[in-house]
Amino acid sequence: MWGDHGVRGRRAIFISCAAILAGCAGAPLRRDAAVPAPDVGREAFVAGTSVEGREIPCVVLGGGPDVCMIIATIHGNEAAGTPLVHRLEREVLIRPELLSGRCLVLVSVANPDGMATNRRTNVNGVDLNRNFPADSFRPTRRHGPRPLSEPESRVLRDLVYRYNPDRVVSIHQPVACVDWDGPGEGLARAMSGLSGLQAKRIGSLPGSFGSWVGLALGRPIITLELPRSADALDDDASWDRYGAMLVQALVWPRRL
Ligand SMILES: [Zn+2]
Repeated sequence: MWGDHGVRGRRAIFISCAAILAGCAGAPLRRDAAVPAPDVGREAFVAGTSVEGREIPCVVLGGGPDVCMIIATIHGNEAAGTPLVHRLEREVLIRPELLSGRCLVLVSVANPDGMATNRRTNVNGVDLNRNFPADSFRPTRRHGPRPLSEPESRVLRDLVYRYNPDRVVSIHQPVACVDWDGPGEGLARAMSGLSGLQAKRIGSLPGSFGSWVGLALGRPIITLELPRSADALDDDASWDRYGAMLVQALVWPRRL
């Protein structure tokens, strides 16, 4: 999966930037060192702000070289992933062995303005999940005039560059399936088996976060589409039904 020299070169650059920019849990990143002992360090910070100035929060747990990034609510009216991300943070603090050799990067709300008004787009009317620099990007009013034209998209871009994730999960609704881009099929099928949600390729959509991470960067990315009925579940019931998929994503073997 890493045979492309361009990707490998970018990876080296990312590692260097990550080390400079302070690592997980305030400790230097040990990206390619031997698997370290569990590190339950927690760093919480504001990764950036939305068009209307709302904070986009990020929590980083652990300090290992194997990095899993999970984001929720890039579409503001698909918010069932946000409590799941919060719950996953609690879970790894209770079960620190899950972080052995790993680093977990959590963005609980990627589109806070959309979430505040229960709409898909940001306040500029741009679908953030069409605003990334994939080859498929097409400038439209809905996609934005250019890739990364929106501050919320740039926040995610910066986090991907900073933490250089080995795999990514982006939680959506309401299609009720586990979609993937890039080398993510194995993880998608494993998550499907834990949830009953069908593993299914929706197809790479223009300028999507999945197209950029999966195809342009060559990293496994799961677009986890929860059903609309997830809105009716309380946090415990939602975790009971869907939480195992997120734990699976966290512990999925690196670089298969
Ligand atoms: Zn969506």
